[in-house]
Amino acid sequence: MTRNLSADRLQPFARIGGVLHCEEVDLREAARAFGTPLYVYSRAGILERWHAYEAAFAGRPHRIHYAVKANSTLGILELLVEAGACFDVVSAGEILRVLAAGGQPEQIVFSGVGKTRRDIALALLLGVGCINAESIPELERIERIAASLGRRAPVALRINPNVDAHVDEHVATGVGDSKFGIDIRDAFSVCRQLPQMRALELKGLSVHIGSQIRSVEPYRETVRILAPLVRQLEALGLMLEHLDLGGGAGVAYRASETTLEPQNLASALYAELDRELPELKARVDVEPGRSIVAAAGVLLTQVEFIKRGRFGRSFAVVDASMTELLRPALYGAYHKIEEVETPEGPREVFDVVGSVCESTDCLGHGRSLAVKEGTLLALRTAGAYGMSMASNYNSRPLPMEVLVSGNRMTPLRRRQTEADLFADELLAGEARADAGVLRATLFKALDIAQKI
Ligand SMILES: *Cc1c(COP(=O)(O)O)cnc(C)c1O
Repeated sequence: MTRNLSADRLQPFARIGGVLHCEEVDLREAARAFGTPLYVYSRAGILERWHAYEAAFAGRPHRIHYAVKANSTLGILELLVEAGACFDVVSAGEILRVLAAGGQPEQIVFSGVGKTRRDIALALLLGVGCINAESIPELERIERIAASLGRRAPVALRINPNVDAHVDEHVATGVGDSKFGIDIRDAFSVCRQLPQMRALELKGLSVHIGSQIRSVEPYRETVRILAPLVRQLEALGLMLEHLDLGGGAGVAYRASETTLEPQNLASALYAELDRELPELKARVDVEPGRSIVAAAGVLLTQVEFIKRGRFGRSFAVVDASMTELLRPALYGAYHKIEEVETPEGPREVFDVVGSVCESTDCLGHGRSLAVKEGTLLALRTAGAYGMSMASNYNSRPLPMEVLVSGNRMTPLRRRQTEADLFADELLAGEARADAGVLRATLFKALDIAQKI
């Protein structure tokens, strides 16, 4: 295994002989073998972050729940199931994904503000470990459904602690009036009603204050705010099985940014818990998503055209777009873009754009690159909220994903074709092509096209 250690951390992507590699795989080879756009993940990179969390939290009973929405591809979930992860999910679809990847239902916690009756019934029938309830009406709904199923529902209360995590407003979830969680000021009275709700079993409290949090201080503040509530509950005899402190640890997308290391997060949380709740017996859970997978993935894309505008702007039009990587268009997010092969020529400033018919479909503004038609580019730190946010907008097929381990590449998803796009759609009239014939025609045409 290529271990390019910088500080004490494995770098899943590094240049070898001027060519960007994922572990031992030359990314030009990956693009040649599978085409572009292509997501490439490093197995070692994901596992290294996972083990960093495990090691950091090892001092107490704990669980690391991987937040599935960050990257919900089955092969990634399978890797984490094998590593021993638990899972935080936000839909019945994500529950099924975890089960399909070999996870156990009791390893799952189910979060989310809008759980339907169907979602809740499914979660209970499938046996998920805990439902994180985000409001009083939701608790009432869970109780009714559990009662009619003749079960007790394991629940935790998602609390909004009113902590400003100092993150972008797009990803803040724990401040003021938010759709997320039960306000901390209402939490005690809600908990007091719980013993009357016979079909509910209070397991714990959960918080998730946002994403891309770079300092431990908001987490410490959260513990300080939760502590009196925990003490009040325990005084009432409501002993918590777990205290779930959420996800949100920041990763560095730019060289100037810092990553919140699991070790620093765990030390700060444990120190604050020792100070505020020295008697606490509850398990300590966290729900990292981005910080497990982001740095272990890249999106490979190829330059299709160079276009020079009349007013001095130059565009590199690439074969990836907002449909493969939505974050730049959705949040103005930054992903480093680099040439897979270190270029020789002079650099110029380009806007790297996709071909979707939206002016926000720009993957990178004003990037200094040396590119021409055919240049292979890597969008870095794309392992989280990349593929899981991909869409078929503009009827673009979803890209392929591969997992690299050492010098091996394992496909995790085949490339969708245009013939897959409308498989679920219905026509009102008779006028329809035979899907099988159409698919065969497409494949025949693609066969010829590939030889040109
Ligand atoms: C999204 C989410 C997470 C994970 O957030 P990251 O920023 O990816 O670590 C954890 N818990 C809940 C409830 C979430 O909604």
